Amino acid sequence: MEVVFKGIYKRYGQTTAVHDLNLKIEKGALHFLLGPSGCGKTTTLRMLAGLEAVTEGQLFFDGVDVTRKPAVERGIGMVFQNYALWPHMTVYKNVEYGLKLRKLPAAEVKRRIDEVMDITRLTQYADRLPGQLSGGQQQRVALARALAIRPNVLLLDEPLSNLDAKLRMEMRDNILRIHRQTGITTLYVTHDQREALSMGTQISVMHAGHLIQTDAPRRLYTFPKTAFIAGFIGETNLVSGHVVSWANGEAAIETALGRLRATHFSGPFKVGDHVTLSMRPEAIRIDWTGSGQGENFFKTRIDHLTYLGESEQFQLSQPEGGGLTLKVNFYHAPIHSFREGDAIGCSIAAEDVLVLPVQSEIGPGT
Ligand code: ATP
Repeated sequence: MEVVFKGIYKRYGQTTAVHDLNLKIEKGALHFLLGPSGCGKTTTLRMLAGLEAVTEGQLFFDGVDVTRKPAVERGIGMVFQNYALWPHMTVYKNVEYGLKLRKLPAAEVKRRIDEVMDITRLTQYADRLPGQLSGGQQQRVALARALAIRPNVLLLDEPLSNLDAKLRMEMRDNILRIHRQTGITTLYVTHDQREALSMGTQISVMHAGHLIQTDAPRRLYTFPKTAFIAGFIGETNLVSGHVVSWANGEAAIETALGRLRATHFSGPFKVGDHVTLSMRPEAIRIDWTGSGQGENFFKTRIDHLTYLGESEQFQLSQPEGGGLTLKVNFYHAPIHSFREGDAIGCSIAAEDVLVLPVQSEIGPGT
């Protein structure tokens, strides 16, 4: 089922938890809602489910306005981080519970339970109590229970946050497989950018009640629209500056590191505009040989070195002091004799310098 949020607001007294949300979730998609704590993800999910009233705007399921439709009539399956299983009921009974409320014929109930137990690979645990299962297995029961009602939309709210790292990886694969098998339109809420990047096809990033960008994982990482997203999706170096020239798709930006050329912009800028540059730690190159050459060459001083085997992290600052610090991650670093306090040159390709609006121009709270 296709879900459309149109101009949706949610206000709690003076607080606007969700601000003018416009979002389309395609039929059959596994769509991610990503953002830091308090950005309005859960509120959005609860409005979709009908558990929270919409203050303003409209919500559509397959083109039908469901804004005022009660939760029970929306056909939503939900899975939360705390599972919410009945501890005194077996796995089978827990899955059956949601179906009983729907007054289906007994044979149909059994057929559906068998089907979802098979999909979630729980058949062998049917007679166990939740307390006799691992965290990952309990999460699968919650998923089976949500799937058994054959929901129009499946909502997953931080479903993996109570699991340890290994189980989380396993459950990521399980959720992807189950989504492929069932094709149910799914909205997955998380604050974990790695989860969203590795699993999602479309990711919507929220910040302070605003939906800022919806994009595929690669585009989100490579072309974030704002400095907030650049810093939230992976690591980045933010450097302020102003535009001194802009012609033929290339800008020159005056910064504390000198004048840098850039070829990627998040919007239209003009000469004189103040901007924020985003430069990924892995995009900055180190001048190992002291050649003093390279695209967008600039001088720095080494504040700190962290050797990690497969990579080496450099924390750098401006040679003559100043507040700017830079992080550089170098993979497969050569053996070198640089030490903390040494001067070192860096360079970065113009295509790896992304020009973004300055933070204060991004929008409220961002
Ligand atoms: P988390 O990841 O921590 O769950 P979230 O992104 O899901 O955060 P929400 O729970 O949607 O964020 O909350 C968004 C904002 O709305 C927050 O500022 C929160 O304090 C506020 N809020 C949520 N529920 C209520 C409520 N019932 N009354 C008043 N304010 C609320």
